[in-house]
Amino acid sequence: MIPVARRLTRLPPYLFVEIDRMKDELIKQGRDVIDMGVGDPDEPTPDFILKAAIKALKDRSNHQYPSNRGLMVLRVEIARWYKKRFGVILDPATEILPLIGSKEGIAHLPLAYVNPGDRVLIPDPCYPPYRTGTILAGGRPVAVPLLAQNDFLPDLGKLAKQAKGAKLLFLNYPNNPTAATADLSFFRDVVRFGQKTGVPVCHDAAYSELTYDGLRHPSFLQVPGAKEIGIEFHSLSKSYNMTGWRIGWVCGNKEMVSALAKVKSNIDSGVFQAIQMAGVAAFRDSGSHLKRMLKIYETRRDLMHRSLRKTGWPVTPLKATFYLWAPIPRGRKSKEVAAELLRKEALVATPGVGFGNAGEGYIRFSLSIPTQRVKEAARRIERLAVWPRRHSR
Ligand SMILES: *Cc1c(COP(=O)(O)O)cnc(C)c1O
Repeated sequence: MIPVARRLTRLPPYLFVEIDRMKDELIKQGRDVIDMGVGDPDEPTPDFILKAAIKALKDRSNHQYPSNRGLMVLRVEIARWYKKRFGVILDPATEILPLIGSKEGIAHLPLAYVNPGDRVLIPDPCYPPYRTGTILAGGRPVAVPLLAQNDFLPDLGKLAKQAKGAKLLFLNYPNNPTAATADLSFFRDVVRFGQKTGVPVCHDAAYSELTYDGLRHPSFLQVPGAKEIGIEFHSLSKSYNMTGWRIGWVCGNKEMVSALAKVKSNIDSGVFQAIQMAGVAAFRDSGSHLKRMLKIYETRRDLMHRSLRKTGWPVTPLKATFYLWAPIPRGRKSKEVAAELLRKEALVATPGVGFGNAGEGYIRFSLSIPTQRVKEAARRIERLAVWPRRHSR
């Protein structure tokens, strides 16, 4: 066996081996498996974006290495959108950097700020790249629990006591996997936390446009002073059904943006320019695409919600993202409940513990599958009844 570097062995084990194996087995048996495990929009990228991409694809000036900091025309569109949407002023020359999907930037950022053994504050449960990027840089993830009784927001007072010497704080609202949202007053506290502790804040706003019931989610950069202490990651993946294209960006603090650009200039050569031009088209959208998508997710949310409630499952309707973060009965393990859903009803959900220890006690359903399939999934959930009808939780 060829020995791998320690950093690889330090990555957490892949938790879904058993579920994946069972899923493959069921498919082989001819079972009709419904996969609500992965958060990847099922609807296609809108036509007006495809058109722009095809045009850009035929332009040979896009066939060479992209410019170092990304196309100025894209950065200008991002700045324009931040101003219109959040009232945030960004300098396209220094405060915005396109990424090969926001995951790429998130995973590379610790290389710029974390020395071996350094601590990084990471929400638990969370989107995995905050943790794995930290580990690959030799850092030590410190779990910041997100608890239901605090609406899945971190206790910043408590956190301030652990913050000394930490190199970064990751946050993500609207949140994957809990679907929690944040308001401006929370972001004000975050900025105060950053100013007081000196820990740079990295906020991931990938779901800021996927909100329901009229909610408008703020950007962390809206708080005066935010740019001095942090950055925001964002992406077209979720709002424009572009997960396969790999286009996102980081914006905010210009030193941090520069540091990440320096790491990246030594690793990749940026986003294919035709895809950057597709991104430009997305920013010029009238808003009708998002409106349509939100209606679709709302329908799916309501279908699931109705069925879960009918079986006595204590869920609240999600206000953002396309994830249903569903509590399981006390004393049961999320992996075990996910395995039961799969075995008995051929339904894939993600065990909460896969997002961190504080995710135990929950499973996550993703609504990113066709509405007809959500309907069928809801029927199966009603049949299984994970929660006893009269429960004590
Ligand atoms: C999906 C997702 C992203 C987007 O990732 P891309 O690399 O831009 O596709 C970022 N953050 C969170 C929390 C996500 O769930």
